[in-house]
Amino acid sequence: MSSAPCPCLTPPLAHDAYSEQPVGIDETAGRFGEVSICRCKHCAQPWLRYFVEYEGFTASGRYFLGAISEQIAATVTPESAPEILASLPSYWRFGSYFGSRQGLSSGPPEVG
Ligand SMILES: [Zn+2]
Repeated sequence: MSSAPCPCLTPPLAHDAYSEQPVGIDETAGRFGEVSICRCKHCAQPWLRYFVEYEGFTASGRYFLGAISEQIAATVTPESAPEILASLPSYWRFGSYFGSRQGLSSGPPEVG
């Protein structure tokens, strides 16, 4: 057994390293955020993924990825996803909106 941390703890996740299950679309304030649960194939950790992009605005694409519990994974709704991210100690953010530099963030995610 290796004690090395799972690769999913240092995202972005490789496409073959997780399975993705769509949760739905968060239409709050007309933002159409795509919410899904990504599950690590190595350690089964569920990750909440929130993606949003504003058509007609360059460099507006962004997504957020936060490790969540099984209990939250089973009950998350598209509309509750931003709140759940805000409640986590930290989550990753990615995308052109952030100059394509990934980083750790906390508090309410910049979804709109
Ligand atoms: Zn993992």
